[in-house]
Amino acid sequence: MAESMKGLQRTCRCTELDESSIGKTVTMMGWVQKSRNKGGLVFTDLRDRSGILQIVFEECDCGAEVFEKAGRLRSEFVIAVTGVVRSRGKDQNKDLKTGAIEISARALRILSESEVPPFPIEDGIKTKEEVRLRYRYLDLRRPELARKIMTRAQIAFKVRSFLQEEGFLEIETPTLIKSTPEGARDFLVPSRLHHGSFYALPQSPQLLKQLLMVSGMDRYFQLARCYRDEDLRADRQPEFTQIDMELSFVDVDDVIEVNERLLQYLFREICNVEIPLPIPRMRWIDAMETYGSDKPDMRFGMPLQDVTDVVKDCGFSVFRDCAAEGGWVKGICVKGQAHMPRKKIDAYAEMAKEAGAKGLAWLSLQEDGSRKSSFAKFLSEDELKALEGAMGCVPGDLLLFVSDKKRETVWNVLGTLRLALGRDLSLIDEKAWKFLWVTEFPMFEWSDELGRYQAMHHPFTMPMEEDLPMLDTDQGSVRAKAYDIVLNGTELGGGSVRIHQADVQEKMLEKLGFTPEMADQQFGFLMQAFHYGVPPHAGLAYGLDRLAMWMVGSDTIRDVIAFPKIKDGSDPMMDAPAPVFDQQQLEDLGIRLAKENQ
Ligand code: ASP
Repeated sequence: MAESMKGLQRTCRCTELDESSIGKTVTMMGWVQKSRNKGGLVFTDLRDRSGILQIVFEECDCGAEVFEKAGRLRSEFVIAVTGVVRSRGKDQNKDLKTGAIEISARALRILSESEVPPFPIEDGIKTKEEVRLRYRYLDLRRPELARKIMTRAQIAFKVRSFLQEEGFLEIETPTLIKSTPEGARDFLVPSRLHHGSFYALPQSPQLLKQLLMVSGMDRYFQLARCYRDEDLRADRQPEFTQIDMELSFVDVDDVIEVNERLLQYLFREICNVEIPLPIPRMRWIDAMETYGSDKPDMRFGMPLQDVTDVVKDCGFSVFRDCAAEGGWVKGICVKGQAHMPRKKIDAYAEMAKEAGAKGLAWLSLQEDGSRKSSFAKFLSEDELKALEGAMGCVPGDLLLFVSDKKRETVWNVLGTLRLALGRDLSLIDEKAWKFLWVTEFPMFEWSDELGRYQAMHHPFTMPMEEDLPMLDTDQGSVRAKAYDIVLNGTELGGGSVRIHQADVQEKMLEKLGFTPEMADQQFGFLMQAFHYGVPPHAGLAYGLDRLAMWMVGSDTIRDVIAFPKIKDGSDPMMDAPAPVFDQQQLEDLGIRLAKENQ
């Protein structure tokens, strides 16, 4: 039977002992990493979240009873050991933080026994993630994962302390609310007291934080849980945490300034990395034109180059016709890859097609000056020279071109190829931390599905003042006072200056296809608040999970979430979602399941 810890008090965690503790009597508690009996000695590695400490049981020191008990220790038993800290002398273990010392045990209690765990509690295991997630509490005992969760806690702590210093108030907002439009599907919670009505779980606290500004709170932040019912992509979760903030009486530069210092502080404190300030900024249009992405990976070059003008009269009809129709021809120069085998080029062409291109035109200029190409035969020597010159192509380089009537297609295809080539050719400096602000996003994006414009950020984003007149004349060209912070090609966060004028907000909703009735039904409370004195305000939200993922050096956000969900949105440990256990619950909610779901 498991023993109690009555009368015992843990002295400290395993790695808090060091050579200065030699000679002290201590009581240590934790899990048995492993225990081995070597004749008259039992060596036990004791583990807690801080690390490992060696315990030695010797019959002459601890007595026969304790020694016999030590012989029964198995991996993952939870024990309490009292003993004396001593030096390991010449037998130091350089791989352990506590490798210079050990505990010579005097007393032992087995606080809890363990079955053999379904996978070893150690780093670098090959166990399938789904199994690890089913036994997440065991998975979290593994040092590499425990370290990541602890670092995340550190990040949250540092964020709080920095923002509090800067005058931000931490204010919680409800999670049972009305829908907030962040462009995803809501999770709904049926109301028992109002049959047929539903709360929505917040996709973000957007409207509430704006109302806190109307309330005069001036500067707010929160580590906010957000819920978006989307199909899960690689680093998304249906519920996640944002470092969410809002500030009054500020414009774009003010938000950027305080956030640069926040990022600098976090990376210095947590990663020992010094981010030089100011962080570079790039307008959205330049990011798209140069990198084919609104979150460019700045760790390598290979910019997209526009050659529409160079090829508009050339002999290759695909380019010529595209230019004549007002389309775009752009290319990338892949340095030193003229020798790339045809098969590989074909694979990139396939990738280009999957990304939406009709085809990929390519030309390689060999070291001896000869060319291989899918289209060079249609061009004169002069035209080829002009094209190569415009692309900065020298012998040994490979050129890839995409043409299309839609510039979005050209951006997307070349942006995709650039990233793939960057990875495949190891052009990315894996040690670099390349931050970038992307600014001046378009206010609207066209949705074929809806047949109208929708807000690229959200409907409460302020257009750039100079673009306001275009709301009626050229809606698609209106730019927003919106910004994203990008790290190494991923979006860490984004935000905007908000509309604080009732008339502009009304107009914005109208432009987004809301009738006054719909607007009133969904955002009436906000519109009403806007009639009672609203400070100009702006904000930003980071995905804490993604930020933590980068900071701990993981390639999945699941590593920094204690209990994450898997691809289909389920939790393999709790088995959620699950049918309701008691039918009465559904009745109370006024819900009847469709036949096929019963
Ligand atoms: N609510 C926005 C989001 O979740 C962030 C912001 O505009 O502050 O993306």
